[in-house]
Amino acid sequence: MKKTLLTALLAVWGFSANAEYWQQSIAYKMEIKMQAEKNQFTGKQEVKYQNNSPQTLNKVYFHLYFNAFQPNSEMDIRSRSLPDPDRRVGDRIQHLKPEEQGYQRVLSLKQNGKALNYAVQGTILEVELAEPIKPGKSVRFEMEFEAQVPLQVRRSGRDNAEGVRFSMTQWYPKMVEYDADGWHTDPYIGREFHGVWGDFDVTIHMDSAYTIGATGHLQNPEEIGKGYLPEGKKLKRKSGSTLSWNFKASNVHDFAWAADPDYVHYTKQVPNGATLHFIYQPDSLTDIYWPQLGDYMVKAMQVMNENFGVYAYSDYSFIQGGDGGMEYPMLTLITGKRKLGSLVGVSVHEMNHSWFQGMLGFDESHYYWMDEGFTEYSGDVVMGELFESSKKDAFVGAYKGYLSIAGSSNEQPLSTHADWFKTNKAYGIAAYNKGSVFLSQLKYLVGDSLFKASMLEFFNTWKHKHPTARDLKLIFEKNSGLELDWYFEQWINTTHTIDYGISSVVERNGELRLHLKRIGDIPMPLEVEVYFTDGTSSRIRIALDVMRDKSTSGQLPDWKWVEQNYRLSMKMPDNKSVKAIVLDPDSRLADVDRENNIIILE
Ligand SMILES: [Zn+2]
Repeated sequence: MKKTLLTALLAVWGFSANAEYWQQSIAYKMEIKMQAEKNQFTGKQEVKYQNNSPQTLNKVYFHLYFNAFQPNSEMDIRSRSLPDPDRRVGDRIQHLKPEEQGYQRVLSLKQNGKALNYAVQGTILEVELAEPIKPGKSVRFEMEFEAQVPLQVRRSGRDNAEGVRFSMTQWYPKMVEYDADGWHTDPYIGREFHGVWGDFDVTIHMDSAYTIGATGHLQNPEEIGKGYLPEGKKLKRKSGSTLSWNFKASNVHDFAWAADPDYVHYTKQVPNGATLHFIYQPDSLTDIYWPQLGDYMVKAMQVMNENFGVYAYSDYSFIQGGDGGMEYPMLTLITGKRKLGSLVGVSVHEMNHSWFQGMLGFDESHYYWMDEGFTEYSGDVVMGELFESSKKDAFVGAYKGYLSIAGSSNEQPLSTHADWFKTNKAYGIAAYNKGSVFLSQLKYLVGDSLFKASMLEFFNTWKHKHPTARDLKLIFEKNSGLELDWYFEQWINTTHTIDYGISSVVERNGELRLHLKRIGDIPMPLEVEVYFTDGTSSRIRIALDVMRDKSTSGQLPDWKWVEQNYRLSMKMPDNKSVKAIVLDPDSRLADVDRENNIIILE
């Protein structure tokens, strides 16, 4: 009796320890004194950190990303050792002069008033705590630091190729996330991010000539004065005095900003939604296309709200800066000298990251393919609504990219950590293309309306948290009643591919005999179209046994996943004869060889 009770209790504890989700929380208050002419700044940071984990913490860590922009940093060495380095990085870090390098130096650090010992290893600050942080307890860290903004190489930095003075991303000592997988002290090599959910209150003191765009909502527009809010006005502030810009953001996992003396700014309002900010340097090209961007992005956000969940913040900013496009909470930095299609395309992609990274805070090192892939997928949905020409090509690029490498020795599974891919190309295809095709295949498995409802439920259940692929799977399984383990398993942890073919078709004595073959390792439910000589056609659906699809019971026998062959015979409709058989007639499967999907009878 006693033993049974204890076993039962342990079972309950064991279960709740696994099933109960927790996440750390943080609040940053920062005062930043920017010395624009020296490209340096000093900062004071007050961090309130709450340990919501069931473990006691004896150490904490911070990211010091700017340290990556020094010769022989991990980012520099990694870039020089990859066979296909990012062209924007290449060997540029190795050649940065001292005044072009980046650094973040911690000057002092206290925990609840007590000075702490710490050590820096590359881009990671390791902090020995004066007192452990027990589960459920919070502490206050106070840090003073100084930093130099590197010449823009990747994402962060000063004086980018388009002449934007400051692209300030990964710019402050940022607490490393601790979650169910432990600490995430990945050295920065220029790739993915993970952060603690929390609030930011950031004041930037800077030469009054500069206009700043940032994560969050500007708290003191009156103090900043005329020019920041009115539509489209170019403003020339006088240099020489200091302006203090105060931005606040709640429930985000990072904070970024950009500053330039030439910026102009206008806003557009999403009906019943966020204020969109457009901040760019006027010139002969940007003056044509940036003013047009606003209306497109209002519509883009409406499409996202409708299909993937409602944007949760008051503001979103599109800012010219950085190198290409990169997403941050409530803003993006994009290069701005683009024609309309490219400008809208990059803006849609980066804004959509507000859903797949910004609000669904994936651990990007492990779920970069949910971050980039789902963003690409939703980008195709939005672009199809904005431009008729984009509709017909939606998802084609994703399939093409994935199929160009699928199953080859160059492909690596999605379970590979983002930083550890052997080539940039393999990473790019896994993240952007295979991640997008993942959703297309999932939609094929569950059907269009259930797909939409499940994506919305995933968003509403997991926004402002760190969901994983498993969390997505559980929602899709619950809503569809289908078993999807086999699909997630094959698609994420292997480089197995889909390939089905038609072995033979025989029509004799009013009977059609079909022999189908599974050549690839990933099984899928199948659709087969039978075309008749009179121009009509008929569709056959073959269920997959491991999916446990009840909707097809009483029809054709399921295809057992262990079987490579499937034979079926069916009575031909009267007075009809077969002209052709096509497997996957809507081209929805990521079938690596479509040649064997069709047989035309003579
Ligand atoms: Zn992206």
